[in-house]
Amino acid sequence: MISFYPGPSKVYPEVRNWLLEAYDCGILSQNHRSSAFEQLVAQTVSVWKNKLKIPDNYSFFLVSSATEAWEIIAQNIASEGSIHFWNGDFGKKWAETTNEITQKAENQSFEINTFPEVKGNLGEKIICLTQNETSNGTQISNKIIGEFRSQNPQSFMAVDATSSMAGVVLDWKKADVWFASVQKCFGLPSGLAVLVCSERLMEKINQEKNITHYNSLFSIGQNMAKFQTTHTPNILGIYLMHRLAQNVAPITEIDTKIRKQAQNWYHFFETQTDLELLVSNSAVRSDTVIVLKGTEEWTKKTIQMAEKEGIILGKGYGSWKNTSLRIANFPAIEAWEIEELQTFFQKQNL
Ligand SMILES: *Cc1c(COP(=O)(O)O)cnc(C)c1O
Repeated sequence: MISFYPGPSKVYPEVRNWLLEAYDCGILSQNHRSSAFEQLVAQTVSVWKNKLKIPDNYSFFLVSSATEAWEIIAQNIASEGSIHFWNGDFGKKWAETTNEITQKAENQSFEINTFPEVKGNLGEKIICLTQNETSNGTQISNKIIGEFRSQNPQSFMAVDATSSMAGVVLDWKKADVWFASVQKCFGLPSGLAVLVCSERLMEKINQEKNITHYNSLFSIGQNMAKFQTTHTPNILGIYLMHRLAQNVAPITEIDTKIRKQAQNWYHFFETQTDLELLVSNSAVRSDTVIVLKGTEEWTKKTIQMAEKEGIILGKGYGSWKNTSLRIANFPAIEAWEIEELQTFFQKQNL
């Protein structure tokens, strides 16, 4: 079975051996305050920061999911309010989740074929951007994130990079919080997420010492200083993260490959098929999630026919649930799998 589902997505084939290794080395029965565990976390953080080119003065935390990261941000950073720029269902849901907690989330929605616009200085509110909108296959470039930053040097900025982190280069210094769960570009089983925070943000958190929530960012930081976690974490997941970090190529290499592959996919659909891409403006098309638009009947039939050939395609999501299908362009997917899916689409075209 080949999977192009954009989350949970194809896991790296090496995961099979690493699962056995995790069992055999005994780490799963080690206490999470033990030095064996601390060493595992220390190495995981250090190798990933190196592979993803995360600046030294940024913290790397392990949490449980991207949805949890939304809540962490709402509870710990968004007390002065937040302003959410979104063009799809993940960005919208983030704003809604935040508003349930703070009652201070503002929406700035934009059309899928356009860029979000920075309109002057946004003040104390935290700026929330969804770098890669998994529901419709659009992305916000590092350049635009940088423009938000330069117009709002005082504001904290949070970026949901769930379906792009570990797939493309992110310009870490341009924002204060970045997060992603591992079942997308990391190519690992679900149950963990990465939260990357700037020094400037952690200074504020360390002054406030807010410990009123299960997910206190202050407590998360205090524990990570000892390479520990606030609770007994997903040790199996962390072990897999650790093994993948050792194995994976540096992000600049992965980025080059993923962008080339994305160009190949878009070119393929535009020149070899009559199929319609959901996003018409090539400047905002995602490098990691490619979305096709179609009638309800075509979408359903195509997903079913692919499944008969052993290929799993991503269903539509949110507003585009029944009239689009999604194809993950994540690093764990191999060239022969892409060829097979392209052959499938060419046959459909006849
Ligand atoms: C998948 C996804 C989420 C939710 O991730 P979970 O790990 O299920 O919490 C949030 N934001 C984006 C952009 C996503 O693609």
